[in-house]
Amino acid sequence: MAKYVFVTGGVVSSLGKGLTAAAMGCLLEAHGLRVGIQKLDPYINVDPGTMSPFEHGEVYVTDDGAETDLDLGHYERFTHTPLSRLSNFTTGSIYDAVIRREREGGYLGKTVQVVPHITNEIKSCVLRMAAQDLDVVITEIGGTVGDIESLPFLEAIRQFGLEQGRDRVMYVHLTLLPYLRATGEVKTKPTQHSVGKLREIGIQPDILIYRTEKSVEKEVREKISLFCNIPLDAVFEEKDVDHSIYELPLVLARQGLDRLLLRRLQLPDTQADLSEWEALVETIIRKRDAEVEIAVVGKYIELHDAYKSIYEALEHAGILLNAQVKLRKIEAEQVTQQTAPDLLAGVDGILVPGGFGERGIEGMVETVRYAREQGVPFFGICLGLQVAVIEFARHVCRMNDANSTEFDPGCQVPVIDLMEEQKGVTEKGGTMRLGAYACHIKRDTLAYECYSETDISERHRHRWEVNNRYLEVLEAHGLVPSGVNPEKDLVEIVELPQHPFFIAVQFHPEFKSKPIQPHPVFKGFIGAALEKAGHPPSGRKESSSVPTRQAKEEHAE
Ligand code: GLN
Repeated sequence: MAKYVFVTGGVVSSLGKGLTAAAMGCLLEAHGLRVGIQKLDPYINVDPGTMSPFEHGEVYVTDDGAETDLDLGHYERFTHTPLSRLSNFTTGSIYDAVIRREREGGYLGKTVQVVPHITNEIKSCVLRMAAQDLDVVITEIGGTVGDIESLPFLEAIRQFGLEQGRDRVMYVHLTLLPYLRATGEVKTKPTQHSVGKLREIGIQPDILIYRTEKSVEKEVREKISLFCNIPLDAVFEEKDVDHSIYELPLVLARQGLDRLLLRRLQLPDTQADLSEWEALVETIIRKRDAEVEIAVVGKYIELHDAYKSIYEALEHAGILLNAQVKLRKIEAEQVTQQTAPDLLAGVDGILVPGGFGERGIEGMVETVRYAREQGVPFFGICLGLQVAVIEFARHVCRMNDANSTEFDPGCQVPVIDLMEEQKGVTEKGGTMRLGAYACHIKRDTLAYECYSETDISERHRHRWEVNNRYLEVLEAHGLVPSGVNPEKDLVEIVELPQHPFFIAVQFHPEFKSKPIQPHPVFKGFIGAALEKAGHPPSGRKESSSVPTRQAKEEHAE
């Protein structure tokens, strides 16, 4: 029988509830428990797939093809939680299920209401997660306590505690202690009010975690304890971390959060094995021997969250290879043939990430041209593969009109075209090619050097693809389709053997990178960037031989 931890947030949004939930999951796993983490979001979109990256940040994709909140990326990076459609529900998806059932006659004779029908549906989302043979389910409630939208979720989790028993259900509330510079104090009042709001609904938090810029005195914690009706040993501090978000599990473990969770949930009081995590944080903190600068040239550059998993995956590879990864974020629209040499001068690697629509495309094409011609390590992801193919077709194969029908529907040379199965699709939500697909990798390619495997699985989110009609001419000019989907014959990876490191993938490898297990293509890319920067390969644990063409050829000589 699973135990349950609900995580709510108060005072302000963007407090880091997702990170805190992920860190708690990490700690419970360190005690040998099987943990599931999920997020319930109070907005009306059925999923975030239809929102602009500027609005919502990255859309994280699961193996089973759900388009989900980016907090799931934290869950993936900190834990081994099974991620699927059960990991993220929204007000929209919950109402959708209830309304569909109502139309089918599932509530015949009844008036369908928020309580109990919507709240029952919310509770069933938690129970379905737990049915996956888990010891603990951590459920993060999106939004901020006090918002109109959050109310049905809070009501549902209150009922959940009543029904399941208070020894199996815990409530963790995360708030902010604002620091007033003028008086030099931190204030607890907003936290008191936020807990008060929760109590109005009938939830007394068991644990309070406060975010703070500065560490606070014991008196402040005592005040929080007294006013919020929470024992002092259940009040935890989450001060802004010094170096990296990956310190968070250790910060919370030092204060005994894991022990308290175990005790309260009546789970065996075991010793946590955090050795791997401690070793990771030690490496992160230590000064790294080398630095590489990576240009990320995309269309949602202003918002860090829009490419969250990519930035994290670059950092993971940097940690492994003992390199500080410095980012040069470049707005694709600014890049032209004239500006490229200046904007990209001195970078050790260039990454073009995913995206939708025409804006910025020509800048990306010029970026790829620069990387290809100047021999700068290049990594294209999803849209990044599509522009790499367009660039190659235009400038190497001399097909000047090459383009994607996404950007030019009447294009004469559609080297990138809408996938056959997408042609009749009119609905926007959840209809892309989504989730995990198999990819067969050719031996003796850069892709194979990175993965060391011929059969892999990666996650997708796109409608357009390389048009196989042009494959022969692209190949004749030297582009190698090194990874192909065996069922549909779709090109999933392309590369240029004449280049030190040039690879582009149709899928999103960034979703599967973990700090303790960096993704092999990111590792290869940062390795190549290190060589470009003139640093000999060195690194943590794994062998750090860097899979670049150049390295291989030099070795052969
Ligand atoms: N817009 C492109 C497509 O739909 C690429 C999508 C992406 O980068 N995720 O195919």
